[in-house]
Amino acid sequence: MVRTHDERRRDYGYRVVTRLLAVVLSPVAFVLASQGGRQRACEWALAARFPGERLTGLTPATRAAFAAARTEALWRHGVLIGLTSGYRDAATQQRLYAEELCRAGSDTAARRRVLPVSESRHVEGTAVDVRPVEGARWLERHGRQYHLYRVYDNEWWHFEYRPDGAPARLPHPGAELSAAGDSIAMPSPAQP
Ligand SMILES: [Zn+2]
Repeated sequence: MVRTHDERRRDYGYRVVTRLLAVVLSPVAFVLASQGGRQRACEWALAARFPGERLTGLTPATRAAFAAARTEALWRHGVLIGLTSGYRDAATQQRLYAEELCRAGSDTAARRRVLPVSESRHVEGTAVDVRPVEGARWLERHGRQYHLYRVYDNEWWHFEYRPDGAPARLPHPGAELSAAGDSIAMPSPAQP
């Protein structure tokens, strides 16, 4: 990803302002909630920076892990982690998969970018796509303590909540199936 000087300066500005906001808000947050005040303050600051985020639909454990991780990232290292996409309902995932199937031309090719409903952890509520790249790098380095792992070589933004331990790193979504011989049944038609 090539970024202009202006974009870098803008991102730096966002980092500074959001961090400042978290610091300024923290006494208020501590008054409101003696436990977890820091996290509350960071959540407010991050919500101001990423107003379009939708955290609903993630499993409670995934959501808690993600909140804890990005609080730590912002508070300790001044790194912002935004959510691009978290939970997706089955209909949305099916639409994304169908679009990719049309574009890519085959099930095997489509799976490299979008998984069908039955295999997507976004539908399960245990996957998060994050931004920007710096945030993803932080999560890749520190995510283990929150059970959040990068899974695919070709998706720097995609992380999964895996409390049972680190999953095998795959070159791309559907890689296990490809390795098994590409004998994949076509998915059933769209059903919410
Ligand atoms: Zn994803």
